[in-house]
Amino acid sequence: MRFVCQESSMGLFVTLQSNFQHVLQYENLELQLKARSTIPHQELSAAAQHKLKELEEADPECKLGIEECLVLELLRWFKQDFFSWVDCLPCSRCGGPTKHDQGLSPTAEELRWEAQRVENHYCQSCRLPTRFPRLVVVGGGTSWT
Ligand SMILES: [Zn+2]
Repeated sequence: MRFVCQESSMGLFVTLQSNFQHVLQYENLELQLKARSTIPHQELSAAAQHKLKELEEADPECKLGIEECLVLELLRWFKQDFFSWVDCLPCSRCGGPTKHDQGLSPTAEELRWEAQRVENHYCQSCRLPTRFPRLVVVGGGTSWT
């Protein structure tokens, strides 16, 4: 019984340590600048101001401020504009349709960016496997690319 307890504690410790190291990446100034250069801040700010004006006209007692509206616009942009949603990727060589095949082993580069799992989108025409690395997000197991 004691052994199981220690094993469980070690698992928790390893998970906490791993997540701690992962979160430290968000403090990297170079990565922050790169992320900020991708975000269309002026466009989102203008949309947030427009949305706030609409909300205030609809409800003069509106408690939301410009920062809340800006966060909502950022979330909308991130989900709807930043990503492209597909069931299967188009073939990276011929652009044709692909189908899921058996998963692939991650390369050293994919592992470096924490892609633990790589989907294989196999082209029916030219038979090329198109790699689709799935990134693990801290606290979840949800993946994104
Ligand atoms: Zn193809």
